[in-house]
Formats: sequence, structure tokens, C-alpha cells
Amino acid sequence: MAEKISGGCQCGAVRYECSEGPIVAGHCQCTNCQKFSGTGHATNMMLPKDAFTVTGEMTRYEYTADSGNTMTRFFCSKCGSPVYGASSGNPAGVMIRVGGLDDPAIFEANFSLFSDSAQSWDHIDPSIKSFPGMPPKPAD
Ligand SMILES: [Zn+2]
Ligand SMILES: [Zn+2]
Repeated sequence: MAEKISGGCQCGAVRYECSEGPIVAGHCQCTNCQKFSGTGHATNMMLPKDAFTVTGEMTRYEYTADSGNTMTRFFCSKCGSPVYGASSGNPAGVMIRVGGLDDPAIFEANFSLFSDSAQSWDHIDPSIKSFPGMPPKPAD
């Protein structure tokens, strides 16, 4: 996998870089990801926060996840593309959407989450390990 990861929003106002590779990567079919993505699932990559830098003006949105953690999502203020998300439950990582990468082809899924809330038309590669909800603990 690529050593240095870079990407940004659709309009180019927000750019990010990460000097280290992903911690984990996968699909999520939870109802929040359906809303935030506007489709059946989000495809995410978790990057080490210490190695992640971002520039450009973003709008933030905070909400409480089912886990009780505070989730903060950052969007480009101009074009609205999701840039990254952070969870109070995981201060060491940031979650980016794979579609924003300069080279989305580097993505390799480790798992797929929340198959219980998946839409019948939203199919994930069946060879990817799938969980009905969050994976059992130390998986993340
Ligand atoms: Zn933008
Ligand atoms: Zn989700």
C-alpha cells in the first residue's frame, strides 16, 4: 500500500496528506453512513491522526453515535464534500472517505460493518469479512 496518502474535496479547496498508511479500511452500511453518503454505504479508511495534515476551510458537524461517542465530521465549506471524521472514542485516528483520495485504487477493505441495516440493493463483495454491527472489540 502507498506510503504517503493524499486527497481532498471535489472543488479542491480542502486538501489533506498522511505520511503513514491506513490503520484499517472498510465499508459501513449503518444508517448514519447511509445519510451522510446519500447512498447505501460509506467506504472509509482510518488514518493515524499524528501523521494526518489538512488545509482549507471546513464546516464541522457533531453528533452522538449509538456508542455514546461524540463524532465530529468535517466537510468542505464550499462544495460540501465529506473530508474526514473523528470520534471521541478513538483519539488516535481520523476516518476519511476513500472517494476523496487522489488514488482511490489503493483502498483494500479489511471488513464491512452494519450488514444488519444494509439496503437490499446495496451489495458488498461477499469475500470481505462482514459484521452485523460493529466488530467485536479489539478489532479496531
Ligand atoms: Zn470543496
Ligand atoms: Zn457507518
